Amino acid sequence: MQPNDPTLKSFIETSPECHFPIQNLPFGIFSNLEDPTLRVGVAIGDQVLDLAILADADLLPLPSEIFLSGSLNQFVALGHATWRATRELISHLLRDDNPLLRDDQTLRAAAFLRQDAVTLHLPMEIAGYTDFYSSKEHATNVGSMFRDPENALLPNWLHIPIGYNGRASSVVVSGTALHRPKGQLKLPDVDAPIFAPSRKLDFELETGFLIGQPNALGEPIDINVAEQHIFGMVLLNDWSARDLQQWEYVPLGPFNSKSFGTSISPWVVTMEALEPFRVASPVQQPTPLPYLQQQTDNAYDIALEVTLTPIEDEGKPGSGQTICKTNFKAMYWTMAQQLAHHTVSGCNTKVGDLMGSGTISGSASGAFGSLLELTRNGQKPLILANGMQRGFIQDGDAISMTGWCQGDGYRVGFGQVTGKILPAR
Ligand code: CA
Repeated sequence: MQPNDPTLKSFIETSPECHFPIQNLPFGIFSNLEDPTLRVGVAIGDQVLDLAILADADLLPLPSEIFLSGSLNQFVALGHATWRATRELISHLLRDDNPLLRDDQTLRAAAFLRQDAVTLHLPMEIAGYTDFYSSKEHATNVGSMFRDPENALLPNWLHIPIGYNGRASSVVVSGTALHRPKGQLKLPDVDAPIFAPSRKLDFELETGFLIGQPNALGEPIDINVAEQHIFGMVLLNDWSARDLQQWEYVPLGPFNSKSFGTSISPWVVTMEALEPFRVASPVQQPTPLPYLQQQTDNAYDIALEVTLTPIEDEGKPGSGQTICKTNFKAMYWTMAQQLAHHTVSGCNTKVGDLMGSGTISGSASGAFGSLLELTRNGQKPLILANGMQRGFIQDGDAISMTGWCQGDGYRVGFGQVTGKILPAR
């Protein structure tokens, strides 16, 4: 049976809502109190499977050092065939009808750890970070507010997957708290900018993809093979200081308003696991130039939600409030198009390059992937369940994003990416 077979079951049991059934098998980096070594694990149910232990037990045909190098980069650099074969081997080992690991209590005790007893780390050493701007709804909403509702989309938007080079150095793993950034902001009634903590701190709901197969300088990636260069996907929160952004973004795009931190989820869901959830790419009019024309469906059906936990409710169980529900499949430009466009100039990519989708907004108001859109730039604050209002993020607020593909009786999920905002330093 193939690893994506919906009828597969593992001896590690999972509920229908669990994000990590045997059909998923995402890769990540973990450590624990007893052993602070950063090592590669695979999520299965509420457990982490330690791949170095499996390699030492000769259950994987790779040296265990590959899994002990502190990130997924060395493993991923072995290439597409190796990721795929490793996932298939792990799937086979975890099946409920395979006694090899199931009945080896000593090995099981060493190889499995509870997820709530481990620390998850940044899954890859991030070589570079590029962020796109590929939701038509988001670009229209932002263009209306920052520029002109009559000409919300700039003339290039329907022709180019717009992107900019972000900062790889400040990409952090879920759970990392970030300080509110300070910077230049220009108040509407004053001519000169002031230097102050951002008053319009926002999140952006995005997904990210990680490069597994690089291309050489001067050798563009053809759109028809672009997805083979992608190792997998994560959830991504592109924190944004809107007041800094509005003052600085012309003419070269965002800079300090985005560079203070970008959060990603710890488990990388492979493109192989996402394959059953491939859906039709959006209709594009006007037809893109030939190097951006797709021969296959390159969109993915991924349900997404954002939860805000206000500082006033910190620590109260169930206090997070869902403020956005949307889906990745509506994105105008696909990952394949983004990658083909990124490299068409001859720009090379590296193993561990992170590419953000751009804020994912649907057409309904509850489907907007940022507070900028949800509150009309703070003009219509959200009324929270505790009676408080939010135009933008307050100190102590936490933002959590989750996402999953819905199968028949199971989910291929991403877990979550969370982050709390601390006061400005
Ligand atoms: Ca963004």
